[in-house]
Amino acid sequence: MRPTSHRTVVLASGGLDSTVTAAIAKQEGYELFFLTIAYGQRHAVEVDRARQVAAALGVANHLVMNLDLHAIGGSALTGLAAVPKDRASKERHQSIPVTYVPGRNLIFLSIAAAHAEVVGATSIYFGANVLDYSGYPDCRPEFIRAFEAVVKQGTKAGMEGIPLHVKAPLLMLRKEEIIRQGIELHVPFHLTHSCYDPVGDQACGRCDSCLIRLEGFAKAGVVDPIAYAI
Ligand SMILES: [Zn+2]
Repeated sequence: MRPTSHRTVVLASGGLDSTVTAAIAKQEGYELFFLTIAYGQRHAVEVDRARQVAAALGVANHLVMNLDLHAIGGSALTGLAAVPKDRASKERHQSIPVTYVPGRNLIFLSIAAAHAEVVGATSIYFGANVLDYSGYPDCRPEFIRAFEAVVKQGTKAGMEGIPLHVKAPLLMLRKEEIIRQGIELHVPFHLTHSCYDPVGDQACGRCDSCLIRLEGFAKAGVVDPIAYAI
């Protein structure tokens, strides 16, 4: 299929950031091709939420792929190690946390690039964020630019001079700014899921991701519509 620039692949996790990212892509006039990877994460409820978000945003297609990163391990999100709880902001920023999943964004973007080539999308929207996300190396701008260069060299589309742009509109925003932007775009926050270690259907309210989300809503001056176990 010939590439058509109005199509974009959105890496949709069912989380807050990827949902705001998708809403931005939609507002910019793109036809959305959602890609969700069920990677064996302990918070697999995300995948169901991604389906609900896809329906709410009226996507053109939603591909859900199973990829068992559990087999590789090395992360508290896919293994047995405990998810850190109740950490202060300073502590969260000290080092790469155990919730880092080895190679996750590298792997996800590679799959997104392959999907984009097939459906004729010339961009990927990706909810990476450098400020709040606890120093994950694969959420940095250097990584994103380097990935674009790799795709240019390693795909048929790239060789034919059709670039693939990786767009991360939230990259430099604080959580409260992301939330405010989401409110303007009428993002269905009640469908989104952020917790690394949910208690049944509810967010734990204590992991890094819950704490960052709760702080963001508080600073934005709005009530988080999801349920917490605390
Ligand atoms: Zn949590």
